[in-house]
Amino acid sequence: MNTEKIGTIIKSTGNEYMVSGVDGLVICKLRGLFRTKGIKTTNPIAVGDHVVYTLEEKNEYGSITKILNRKNCIYRKSINLSKITHIIAANIDEAFLVISLIEPRTPLGFIDRFLVSAESFRIPTKIIFNKTDLYNSDTQEYENKIKAIYTPLGYTCLSCSTVNYLGIEEVIAAMKDKISLFCGQSGVGKSSIINCIEPGLGLKIGVISQYNSKGKHTTTFAEMHPISIGGYIIDTPGIKEFGLIQYEKTELSHYFPEMLQLLDKCKFSNCTHTHEPDCAIKEALDNGEIAPSRYNNYLAIINNEDINMKDWEFK
Ligand code: GDP
Ligand code: ZN
Repeated sequence: MNTEKIGTIIKSTGNEYMVSGVDGLVICKLRGLFRTKGIKTTNPIAVGDHVVYTLEEKNEYGSITKILNRKNCIYRKSINLSKITHIIAANIDEAFLVISLIEPRTPLGFIDRFLVSAESFRIPTKIIFNKTDLYNSDTQEYENKIKAIYTPLGYTCLSCSTVNYLGIEEVIAAMKDKISLFCGQSGVGKSSIINCIEPGLGLKIGVISQYNSKGKHTTTFAEMHPISIGGYIIDTPGIKEFGLIQYEKTELSHYFPEMLQLLDKCKFSNCTHTHEPDCAIKEALDNGEIAPSRYNNYLAIINNEDINMKDWEFK
């Protein structure tokens, strides 16, 4: 008789899955048909999924018989098939948005778009300010202002430098025993930070994403890398699309925590907080309770504007 075991998918090639379970690593295939609740998808299982599998002695492969409920997942729309999604990864504990205030300077619009996506996928996010070794007093002041916007919203902010290692220990402590996603513009230092946590791994991840941006590497399957302090780092080629989900106009404010808590105070339940009278969001903006940069980026997202790469001011 085959006993059922529970494991986690750490790699997928589309028809084979690497499962980490009580037997160590087992290559499994899918048995039977899978239907994913609610969303139509090109891939029924993604990295991070917890599954039930069986292992038969005479078989080379294990068989996945069931997917356990997900606490969250990130997905993107499959190209040309707008209603069908591709699941990138599931059961993510935390996203780390790495930003830099110098070479390159991350625009606030980039941060806000990312946070909106993370909120919509229900993934808690921490913001890491890297390259603090390059700061002067103006940069430090600018960092303080940004932290004063995001910390009260529930986004923990950490600062570090991979050059002098200041703050790295705090970053490592924040990732321990979690399934983490590292995101951010190219050049902000994601690979360097991952290298501080697990030497060699950042290099591998950096190479993969570079390969991808040239369009040569078309596979969109993510991989979960175990780290020795405990936990996993998810490496996902699909992360570029992370911020490209379309939102309904009345839905977007749900993904701004400072707006969400005020929504029931707007006169109209379908308020878009743009032109309507008696709008609690605009009132909060006028009272200084909502940061102007956050509201401006809210408008930019609603109006489908591209990220202003020079958007560093608190206008
Ligand atoms: P990624 O594209 O986000 O993975 O960024 P990389 O880790 O490849 O780093 C991009 C560049 O920034 C490299 O030249 C790194 O040496 C440099 N870099 C990374 N972290 C730091 C840092 O904390 N301080 C400074 N001064 N440079 C850094
Ligand atoms: Zn309103």
